[in-house]
Amino acid sequence: MSNSDSEKRPEYTPCLPHAHQRPLSPERAGVRGSAGITIRIATLLLAWGIPASAAEIKFDSARAYGYLKDICKIGRRVSGSDGMIQQQRLLIKHFQSLSADMKAQRFDVAHPVKGTPVRMTNLVVSFDPKATERILICCHYDTRPYPDQDTFRPKGLFIGANDGASGVALLMELGNHMKTINPRYGVDFVFFDGEELVYNEGDKYFLGSEFFSKWYARAKPGYRYVAGVLVDMVADRSLQLYMEKNSVRKAPDVTRSVWAVAKRLRVKEFIARQKYEIRDDHLALNDIAGIPTTDIIDFDYRYWHTTRDTPLQCSAASLGKVGKVLLHWMVEVPISR
Ligand code: ZN
Repeated sequence: MSNSDSEKRPEYTPCLPHAHQRPLSPERAGVRGSAGITIRIATLLLAWGIPASAAEIKFDSARAYGYLKDICKIGRRVSGSDGMIQQQRLLIKHFQSLSADMKAQRFDVAHPVKGTPVRMTNLVVSFDPKATERILICCHYDTRPYPDQDTFRPKGLFIGANDGASGVALLMELGNHMKTINPRYGVDFVFFDGEELVYNEGDKYFLGSEFFSKWYARAKPGYRYVAGVLVDMVADRSLQLYMEKNSVRKAPDVTRSVWAVAKRLRVKEFIARQKYEIRDDHLALNDIAGIPTTDIIDFDYRYWHTTRDTPLQCSAASLGKVGKVLLHWMVEVPISR
């Protein structure tokens, strides 16, 4: 993501070279059998358990933090890299073990420096896939190629513990609870690729979310996303989650609903005031897909885009606070349709 208060970046424009559109709806994906392009891992045919009461909803913070460390152990997870492929394997294994319905949305872009094709993959995990009204919980799962904000090592190793792994770890742990909570709507987790395949100023951000949003706007997939929540940098040890300005402007009801749930749960790290205006994957979802989507992001993170964005700067407790709010929010989704 980028902070539009501190950085000037050109408006992102549609640019999807070599894009292959792949339908994501379970029915169409199954019928087309698009040879290795749509991965159909398992169909979710769960007998949904008795819904847990709110008091029983327990996000396992330590387990989520363990996921974060596992992801960071892979190293760099730049779009199209071996590390990204390893991470995809880890996610497929995880959600396969939960019997979730999982698909990949793939497309190619030109590498911003070399010009060679880079394979992009958005991963979509669906719970209650037949529900025609759905919510979207999403994060990016690629890491920036280099820690450009690092004073001493701007070409050093960037493993994105908070900026990358935190959102992924959170969704992995949320996945463990989807059988026991009873969400108001069907739920899709989406892992966006290409959020920051950025080497130089002017390189495009948000490739995966833009591709997904264009697909959704065009495909009319037979279901509708009622609301979306993007998480990004949610594991900072000193967590402060202000309302993000673009989210308040573009998705006011969704934003307020998340912070209202946090207030009720007394999660004081959600601060119901605006601070930063951030350009992030939620812009495409709001502007192109028309899905009102809020961005839960802690931009007060001194290790942002540095070699020190490591698990040491993150905490299980922070992941737990965001996870708890989202588990409750998914059950209620306290917004009007
Ligand atoms: Zn970043």
